[in-house]
Amino acid sequence: MRKGSGQNSPDQTSKKVLVIGGGIAGLTAAWELARLNLDVELVEKSSFLGGHAIQFCCKAADECQKCGACSVEQRLLEVIEEPRIRVHLRTELEGLSGNGRFSYALSRRPSYIDSQKCSNCGICFEKCPAPGAIVRGYSKNNIPLYAIDEGKCLYFRDGNCNICQDLCPEKAIDLDQEQGHVSDKADAIVVASGFKAFDPVDRPRYGYGINKNLITALDLERMLREKGNVVRPSDNKAPESIAFIQCVGSRDHKLEHGFCSQVCCGYAMRMAEAIRHRHPEIKVSIFYMDIQNCGKNFSKFYERCKENIRFVRFMPGDIFQGEQDQLTVCYGDEKDGHAVRELFDLVVLSVGIMPGSGNASLADMLKLDLDKHGFFASGDSLDSTSTIRAGVFLAGTAQGPKDIADSMAQAGQAAHRVAQYLGVVQCPK
Ligand SMILES: Cc1cc2nc3c(=O)[nH]c(=O)nc-3n(C[C@H](O)[C@H](O)[C@H](O)COP(=O)(O)OP(=O)(O)OC[C@H]3O[C@@H](n4cnc5c(N)ncnc54)[C@H](O)[C@@H]3O)c2cc1C
Repeated sequence: MRKGSGQNSPDQTSKKVLVIGGGIAGLTAAWELARLNLDVELVEKSSFLGGHAIQFCCKAADECQKCGACSVEQRLLEVIEEPRIRVHLRTELEGLSGNGRFSYALSRRPSYIDSQKCSNCGICFEKCPAPGAIVRGYSKNNIPLYAIDEGKCLYFRDGNCNICQDLCPEKAIDLDQEQGHVSDKADAIVVASGFKAFDPVDRPRYGYGINKNLITALDLERMLREKGNVVRPSDNKAPESIAFIQCVGSRDHKLEHGFCSQVCCGYAMRMAEAIRHRHPEIKVSIFYMDIQNCGKNFSKFYERCKENIRFVRFMPGDIFQGEQDQLTVCYGDEKDGHAVRELFDLVVLSVGIMPGSGNASLADMLKLDLDKHGFFASGDSLDSTSTIRAGVFLAGTAQGPKDIADSMAQAGQAAHRVAQYLGVVQCPK
């Protein structure tokens, strides 16, 4: 059971660290800090912990493909069971002052659903008349598993619908809750506010949002996680052919995103392998510029992928609606560049990792620098967790694109740096 705010920390004399962001980097930093006997206030602005990665599917084929998705579930469980960590959902930093010992203010949107009372029965989700007003999280370890989206809830439109509140057998829902504010002090801060996935609406030539069977890799992750298999959104039938388009939003100088997102080649190949493993009849093609080395044993993995997946080294120009809800992908032949048009049942855009949309305001509040792309800048080229402000550290994709394993590794390092800074552990001589 999640610990409610206001509960005493186990050791009143121990130092306290504020961790901003409850994705895999923030969860890992919080957990590692707790293991170093530090108290942690973990602040997450959304209704659920786990960030992007909690939405990912397992990509195992014949064997585990080390996509890292399961490590997020595991870490989430460890965090909610750790008494030194207090979780604040739907909460954001609204002010910070001081040096060395920071005074901070948090603003908390109402949760409406009491995590202590909710039994995750799901009646609110089933009976809600407004689509999308009750949101379900991806992990059963998120407590509660359900949240209310005020933008879609009818109660917040005209006050006329109380169905969820009336039907909840545990009386866990209170739609009249008000915003809260909390002030406290922290001895150090870890910024783990993550990234924003590239929104392909900013690249209109692909027609995202117009063609139903053109989805992003995040949409595919969620589909595989929720349904366990891949279908065409237009008719819920299994596709016969899928095209992955790489570098959507990354390495795009027109958008001033010249950087590589580091993770897209790896996730697209693993997803393609997982799909082919479940449905060997589906033909998968990957359109790419360059394949990035994505980790240990990469060459072996790439060679294995080439046996099942067609790799086309050409970035498609246009994609438009063909017959029977198929999509026509226009590209150039790899050898002589002549124009090719090919039909696919499903097209997946491998969207990249972009700086978080709140980075500028958070950096302003924390008096930190951003790099030229908009990620949080490290204060020391030898230590990516450091910042220009003493006592404030970085973890995960807030600092730049990286995968789950690297986000966890950097978060562990950030926790260690915090402990050194606070004198809890000594620098090795
Ligand atoms: C389509 C796609 C597929 C991917 N697939 C894989 C894969 O298979 N394997 C892999 O290793 N990596 C994969 N990645 C990369 C992976 O998503 C990241 O490595 C990982 O999610 C980074 O975690 P994070 O905690 O840094 O950021 P996030 O997951 O973005 O978490 C940040 C959290 O901070 C919260 N937050 C933001 N701002 C604030 C604020 N001001 N206050 C409080 N909270 C805040 C956010 O709500 C969020 O919960 C993929 C990426 C994409 C885009």
